[in-house]
Amino acid sequence: DDGTTGSAEVVKDKLLGGLLVPGFDEESCLSRYQSVLYRKTSSHFPSAYLLERLREHEALQKKCGPHTELYKEAVEQLNSGQAVKVMGCNYLVWIAYSGLGNRILTIASAFLYAILTNRVLLVDGDNGTADLLCEPFLGTSWLLPSDFPMKQFKNFSIDSPDSYGKMLKNKAIHSNPAFLYLHLAHDYGHHDKLFFCEDNQQYLQTIPWLFLKSDNYFVPSLFLIPAYQEELTRLFPQKDVVFHHLGRYLFHPSNVVWGMITRYYDSYLARADEKLGIQIRVFDTETGPFQHVLDQVLACTLKEHLLPEVHTQQPIVSQRNARLKVVLITSLNSGYYEKFRNMYWEHPTTNGEVISFHQPSHEEHQKSDRKMHNMKAWAEIYLLSLSDVMVTSAWSTFGYVAQGLSGLKPWLLFKPENHTAPDPPCRQVLSMEPCFHAPPFYDCKAKRGADTGKIVPHVRHCEDMSWGLKLV
Ligand code: GDP
Repeated sequence: DDGTTGSAEVVKDKLLGGLLVPGFDEESCLSRYQSVLYRKTSSHFPSAYLLERLREHEALQKKCGPHTELYKEAVEQLNSGQAVKVMGCNYLVWIAYSGLGNRILTIASAFLYAILTNRVLLVDGDNGTADLLCEPFLGTSWLLPSDFPMKQFKNFSIDSPDSYGKMLKNKAIHSNPAFLYLHLAHDYGHHDKLFFCEDNQQYLQTIPWLFLKSDNYFVPSLFLIPAYQEELTRLFPQKDVVFHHLGRYLFHPSNVVWGMITRYYDSYLARADEKLGIQIRVFDTETGPFQHVLDQVLACTLKEHLLPEVHTQQPIVSQRNARLKVVLITSLNSGYYEKFRNMYWEHPTTNGEVISFHQPSHEEHQKSDRKMHNMKAWAEIYLLSLSDVMVTSAWSTFGYVAQGLSGLKPWLLFKPENHTAPDPPCRQVLSMEPCFHAPPFYDCKAKRGADTGKIVPHVRHCEDMSWGLKLV
């Protein structure tokens, strides 16, 4: 009986190689310790140093968290408007903004920035974030309390006088404000992007409260700031697993969403020999379905042997003891799913494989302010991430999150132009990392433009967006 070692193994797996700590109340967030029952063990281990820094960061979140003495002091200072003395705790407030995939990627980016700069991360729980995710830090809350006195942060925008970029532009940097707003959203300008320069990082260290609005995975550009490079290399000796580790550490579906995930999985996916996930995200003002998108998905899955060919001449192929492949399709539109399902109903597969198609929802339009809509989106992202093989759509942060959580390198469907299926239709990505869609192209030292995808070997341009940056 090797019961001892056996249960030690189980405990280790349950904690995802040490990413998670034991001691949370299991009932309040079932997904935290149950994900191991649904997701294969990752082949990527977090570094011992990452685990050490996560434990330190948890201690910081607890020491300075909402309603502690240190927090109250910091809030008083914020009310006073001036950073009069050096604070025990500094904060980074993440402002809810954009679609769910974008939000998850920016929370992960903000969290890494918080670790690098020893800031407490507080998350604005509005727009459903609090209903979708469990608390990641033991013994404290990462949600910005509802009695947080400074309400105007919700209205911060690119032109706010409290914006750091705006101040740099107007050369109006005060010596020691209690807070600053960082506008790092897709529409940001040259002065906002100076956030990624080392000198400005040094200045930001002195500001107790930073408010961040972003819809981008800005991690790749943090790897280009010299002051953080050594620390980042220690945290992530393997560079292409940043979101894979931080994502599995931070994002545990709430019980309501976990119920949706596990019921769907157990009903439709659990018994498969192989699970193929196909994410079809179409960025078009018309709703579709589009023939060119169907052609593209079909061309990709057949060419890469992810789906078998069908016999159009032969009415029946023996399917006894055949392998069962389940295909999970996610899309706002149900048209693609229906076409696929019909094709494999009307014709047998050439290899006798049995294929079933499933699509949890078809919401037609993005409605990111609706609670059930966001829950379905999160459940579908998570279900996709439980696939054995994945096909994702270009430009989509929804797909990036699924890919990062899964640890897979999906086949990426290139973005169609002029309603035409691209050739080749897809390729396998270089790494499981998300793409930073709006990186700066600037050499801070030389003070001129530069191709930031060519500075270090591990920060490259993305497969799906030539100007984007990703870690490889
Ligand atoms: P991106 O726009 O693809 O980068 O991803 P986001 O998640 O940031 O925003 C798209 C939003 O549209 C999602 O959060 C959902 O609200 C909705 N959406 C897009 N595709 C799907 C899908 O396949 N299933 C569901 N349920 N919602 C989707």
